[in-house]
Amino acid sequence: MFFTFTDSERENDMIIVMKPQAAQESIDAVISSIQAKGLSVHLSKGEEVTIIGVIGDKARLSTENLVMYQDVDRIVPVTESYKLSNKKFHPEPTCVKAGPAQIGPGTMTVIAGPCAVETEDQLLCIARAVKASGATILRGGAYKPRTSPYSFQGLEEEGLRYMQTAARETGLATICEVVSQEAIEAAAKYVDMIQIGARNMQNFILLREAGRSGMPVLLKRGLCATIDEWLNAAEYIMSEGNPNVVLCERGIRTYETATRNTLDLSAVPVMREKSHLPIIVDPSHSTGSYRYVPSMAKAAVACGADGLMIEVHNDPAHALSDGPQSLTFPHFDKLMQELRPFCELVGRPLPPLKAAQE
Ligand code: PEP
Ligand code: MN
Repeated sequence: MFFTFTDSERENDMIIVMKPQAAQESIDAVISSIQAKGLSVHLSKGEEVTIIGVIGDKARLSTENLVMYQDVDRIVPVTESYKLSNKKFHPEPTCVKAGPAQIGPGTMTVIAGPCAVETEDQLLCIARAVKASGATILRGGAYKPRTSPYSFQGLEEEGLRYMQTAARETGLATICEVVSQEAIEAAAKYVDMIQIGARNMQNFILLREAGRSGMPVLLKRGLCATIDEWLNAAEYIMSEGNPNVVLCERGIRTYETATRNTLDLSAVPVMREKSHLPIIVDPSHSTGSYRYVPSMAKAAVACGADGLMIEVHNDPAHALSDGPQSLTFPHFDKLMQELRPFCELVGRPLPPLKAAQE
């Protein structure tokens, strides 16, 4: 079966779904005919079905000819502006690796740590605590894009060096936000994954640089970004040849002021429908209060998130940034224990504590 196209759909990109168990020669023949028109191809080989994505600016292919090819099942127009992040192009869920950790199906990855790296001792003590409770990735901001220019702006490369020391001490993977090309280059030397923050989600130059770096990228949702804008931001990174993108819902601006932002948990199932990329939830920046973090973390697990990002501090009252939303060590440990049965229930067990403490 295949679709008929309207004239406007003809100008859009498309995917060619091959029949189950299609012969390799048939797949190659379709690819060659597309490339011969100067268009690029994105191949997604699943267990049974192969999908050939066609990307080109206002591409015009003779779909009537393509459906005549051996083993072509159907041709589906892709009307969305994002392609590589689109589930139509890549139906299998993606798993992104970051150093020794991974984020994707079948696992619950907890990223925890301070908002900002403050001192080496502070970071080491937080790293040990979050690891003992079951986190697998350490977060810590070395470049802080603060709302006020007079607030603490981060230790920059020195902070990154502390992240590396903490990783060596604990075996945790590490993530740090980047705000410039210079920061990306520095981060590549010291940490496993980079983060593009909410305020930079539509900094298209930075997104391209993050794409070129080849590093795994955690892309936070912009403060006022729609799902489509967010996926287009992911597309900027992926179109530079970097498929290692993880999305992070961190709350959006609404008229509500009781919480710092409004956590849009529906973004998780919506993204599952639209994209193959992993999606995690940040209950810290979304609520802005340590009191609401546990409830929203559990809700995030229940609605299918691949992971959580939680701010943890040894002394929240004296934290240089985001103290009010940071969990103490005992609060974080309690939350992790409470999360275990939820994670089991959704088929994403947390790592056994014994292994985490080795
Ligand atoms: C952060 O994770 O430290 C941060 C600044 O988050 P966001 O970009 O979501 O505000
Ligand atoms: Mn923060």
